[in-house]
Amino acid sequence: MKKRTKILATIGPASDSLESIKNLLRAGVNVFRLNFSHGSHEYHYETLQKIRQAEKETGLLVGVLQDISGPKIRIGQLELPFDLKEDDTLEFSKNEILGKKTGENSYVTCLSQPAILGQLKLGDYVYLYDGIIRTHVIDVNEESVSVRVENRGILTSKKGVNFPNTHLGIDVLTEKDRVDMLWGVKNEVDFMAISFVQDATDMIEARKIVTTYGGKVQLYAKIEKFDAVENIDAILEASDGIMVARGDLGIEVPFYEVPALQKMLIKKANAASKPVITATQMLLSMTEKETATRAEISDIANAVLDGTDVVMLSEESAVGRNPVLAVETMVKTIQGAEKMYPFNKCSVFKLHDATDSVNEAAVKLCEDVQAWGLICLTSSGSSVKKISRYRPRRDIYAVTHDMRVARSLTICWGVVPAFMVNESSFGQVMSEVVKQGLERNVLKLDKSYVLTAGDPVGVPGSTNMIRILGEHEMGYFKSLV
Ligand code: PGA
Ligand code: MN
Repeated sequence: MKKRTKILATIGPASDSLESIKNLLRAGVNVFRLNFSHGSHEYHYETLQKIRQAEKETGLLVGVLQDISGPKIRIGQLELPFDLKEDDTLEFSKNEILGKKTGENSYVTCLSQPAILGQLKLGDYVYLYDGIIRTHVIDVNEESVSVRVENRGILTSKKGVNFPNTHLGIDVLTEKDRVDMLWGVKNEVDFMAISFVQDATDMIEARKIVTTYGGKVQLYAKIEKFDAVENIDAILEASDGIMVARGDLGIEVPFYEVPALQKMLIKKANAASKPVITATQMLLSMTEKETATRAEISDIANAVLDGTDVVMLSEESAVGRNPVLAVETMVKTIQGAEKMYPFNKCSVFKLHDATDSVNEAAVKLCEDVQAWGLICLTSSGSSVKKISRYRPRRDIYAVTHDMRVARSLTICWGVVPAFMVNESSFGQVMSEVVKQGLERNVLKLDKSYVLTAGDPVGVPGSTNMIRILGEHEMGYFKSLV
């Protein structure tokens, strides 16, 4: 079951038993997502223990991504659902009130974050219920903001609200998020995804919180706001990776712009050697059905060919009727697309430093000498991410002495993590790598490999060495004691 593009699956009521988690892992999941928009700390703690148990029992290394819910803005509780029609007026009160009908064509409700009302200007769009009901601002005063409804729709309590052309300028990390992040650091999740990021300062703030708590979590920015798209270069620099969060993004920008944005975001993430996740509705129909639509299959294949590192399942695996089948469908689709994959992207990227040059040369060398794979010795994991962007035809074997680093590489395209070795002499490291690789059946005794490393070892980002590991040496390192 070889595939190079990774799968991130959300755990939920349909998949949270130890048995399901093991089945999902065996089917091809590389990283599990704990969605902190739902579920208690106790629930997520139990799930996490089961994931770690499943990792032990299957021998398959798995990463854990904690998705921080962020400031999802919602309307308040309604007395009765609002049957909204074109040209109706809806008032958002700055006070917390029970929503009700106030006249033939008028309604009033409130927002979970009333401070946002102060940012709205006449003509700004306000979208309700995942963009299903569109409105625009017609009146702004001391007590409230009123909008005109543009299309029919039934609005029920606590539905989400988007402000597609308003720069909110709010702190995207809520009090709840901060508490959740402390939980994540304490429980050593591998990745945290930050929702509704506006610019790099949001990621810098998230990094500060995690560092203050003493954590070493990889931080992913969810790109789901129009300002995040505008600020993508700085956000990429401040993040360890990004998620193309197409659900909210398709409300914040016109939905028909999402495919082009997806390609742009993936290209930029690849160039920056930062892993990128493509998310939302990839196999949505499989939440209910046994088969996917042709359009969904094409969507996954196209994301793979765009260069995504990861494809994600949300409700399909969290509450769907057959999470394992959804993963199997994804695996087959990835394999199908990878048959015509543009491997070995040499002379494509700008070389930023010596590590980039060594990595590009290693990928070329691997092809020239027809080596079976690339073995990368890494202390922080960054050199492995840098070699992954070339999308080598051969597998990348990451060698590290730190389990946290090994798990952080579960999300990278084409990387087989990892061999745990102790820092010692080159000969001893290679001997351990070869022995473990043969034992796990991922390295072959009668093949040659290309090796990259930093010398002296243990200095992050210092890759400065390429070496061909000939067939004859495999036996030598195997017998070394
Ligand atoms: P969500 O993020 O599922 O947490 O909303 C993904 C998206 O918006 O696409
Ligand atoms: Mn979202």
